[in-house]
Amino acid sequence: AEVVGGDDKDVVRVYFNKTGFERWKKIYGDANEGVNRVQLDIRLGHSETVENTLAMLRDGGPLAGISVCDAGCGTGSLTIPLAREGALVTASDISASMVAEAERQARDALVGHSGAQMPKFEVKDLESLEGKFHTVVCLDVLIHYPQEKAEAMIAHLASLAESRLVLSFAPKTLYYNLLKRVGELFPGPSKATRAYLHAEGDVERALRKVGWKVNKRGFITTQFYFAKLFEAVPVSSA
Ligand code: SAM
Repeated sequence: AEVVGGDDKDVVRVYFNKTGFERWKKIYGDANEGVNRVQLDIRLGHSETVENTLAMLRDGGPLAGISVCDAGCGTGSLTIPLAREGALVTASDISASMVAEAERQARDALVGHSGAQMPKFEVKDLESLEGKFHTVVCLDVLIHYPQEKAEAMIAHLASLAESRLVLSFAPKTLYYNLLKRVGELFPGPSKATRAYLHAEGDVERALRKVGWKVNKRGFITTQFYFAKLFEAVPVSSA
């Protein structure tokens, strides 16, 4: 049951276009109907990750006019508040369903909002993103990939970023305690992907290898949700 055939990325793409899309749209939404206690708890934890990320980013100065790449944007939970503050957001996701939903929500939330900048949306896996952005953010995506792949993703994301890279991941330190609860993220028949936890030290090493270092850290935890949040900067700028 643990072994999933094929490439992790193909499995993840299929999952987030169908079952995973329905599931996560509900979790990241605001309606309470059909949302169970575990999902509500995950919603709460995730919203704290988004809030902490916004606080980290604002700490570096106003967001208006800054280019931000939101890699693996999901339904736009981070993209939309960034765009509302005037950041120039390029939001992409491997799942076309997710991108369509993020775009729909952005239109609803941003139209007529003075100072808001409509994000640019793209269906793209983050490995094939190109360009340069002041800030690159990638929240709750690495959990879908084993360490080796996560390391390559981190290196690529860093190559797109000029000033800072913000990442969240499920920490491996609490592995044995949390494994069971992390399993709640993909219960029953929708358990189409597995969750990978990453050791903080491994993520730091992956950043170091490409000349980046961790500058700020956060840790978000609720009953069923766990995330480490890193803001990294080029070593030369620190
Ligand atoms: N970052 C969003 C947030 O925090 O609200 C969404 C997090 S959701 C748990 C993970 C997202 O990553 C899904 O929308 C999924 O489609 C996307 N994803 C997974 N692998 C990806 C990849 N290789 N490139 C781009 N997006 C990916």
